Amino acid sequence: MRTAFDATISDRISSLGRRVLEGGGVSREEALGLFQIESTGDIFELLAWANRIREHFKGNKIHLCSIVNAKAGGCSENCKFCSQSSFYQTDSPRYGFVDPEPAKQAAEEAGRNHVTALGLVAAWKGLNEGPMLDEVCERVRELKAQGQVRVDVSLGIIKEQLVADRLREAGVECYGHNLESSRRFFPEHCTTHTFEDRVRTIRLLKNSGVRICSGGIIGMGETREDRCDLALELREIGASVVPINFLNPIEGTPYEKNPPIAPLEALKTIACFRFILPRQEIMVAGGRAKNLRDLQSMIFAAGASALMVGNYLTTLNRPVEEDLRMLEDLRLDPTWDHHFADQDADTSCGCGEGDDCNPRKTTTVNSLIP
Ligand code: SF4
Repeated sequence: MRTAFDATISDRISSLGRRVLEGGGVSREEALGLFQIESTGDIFELLAWANRIREHFKGNKIHLCSIVNAKAGGCSENCKFCSQSSFYQTDSPRYGFVDPEPAKQAAEEAGRNHVTALGLVAAWKGLNEGPMLDEVCERVRELKAQGQVRVDVSLGIIKEQLVADRLREAGVECYGHNLESSRRFFPEHCTTHTFEDRVRTIRLLKNSGVRICSGGIIGMGETREDRCDLALELREIGASVVPINFLNPIEGTPYEKNPPIAPLEALKTIACFRFILPRQEIMVAGGRAKNLRDLQSMIFAAGASALMVGNYLTTLNRPVEEDLRMLEDLRLDPTWDHHFADQDADTSCGCGEGDDCNPRKTTTVNSLIP
């Protein structure tokens, strides 16, 4: 692998970086060129520009998010990375939808830790109108009344506008629904539902005025081109928060032996996402310690502006105090008065279309559906 600094590549990175800082976008070809960068020197040049872009659009604010496994295990879907799929033999716990008291305690803990949003995540295919939706809405209302954190949900595939509308009425501002990978790679890791099912769900939620938290998983065997196309699809659907997970291979799943991503490759991926999605919250989520090892604190210098803290759905994370100390050491600030205020002020998505851009219009999402 080359380690030398290439002036031609450096010129290309700085020219794209300047364009993004001025409000322009990068094309697919340009974005793919960034993902293909190999040399260590050029990767550090890329990180420096991604950091400038983060600082320009996000200042020193870092969005913290926690999740609670609101319904665990026994999922009917066959996502190959997931320990909660009923297709695989894993040690994942199984239980029904979370009761009020543990949800309340999770929100209290999140509030104490400067967390902006607590996500209730359910391991099931999706949610329909009926008693389960009533219970979910009740939990959202209870937690909102508690007033310590924004209450986000991740409840799988939605097929009816009414369900999305009811969630919005209950107070859901942001819905987690990862695209997971590129459209091309998606059938490699899941065949029980489709990429289009996910895009349709996002369209219904956006119709209801719910923001979208959507990202993917790096390290499933996808190519750099797949990673690039995932980032471009996320720009197209107008995701507000973009979680980047690095695969944490779970014993018993088909991906149990997948090797970790090299730390510099992981940082480069975050930086490329920042170039493509300059205004979005780019959140480093699962698999952080496993893949980045000692380079964890460099994620912000690579352009990340958000961090998932506390334990993940079925794997452990380091204590929140260590993450808060890391932010303090980096002079980064996790407190917010009005998160999303910057995105409210500027509705373009970074695609470079300027005033013509409207990432919340549903036609852009419709255009993804064949
Ligand atoms: S739908 Fe969600 S919970 Fe179910 S297997 Fe896929 S990732 Fe896991």
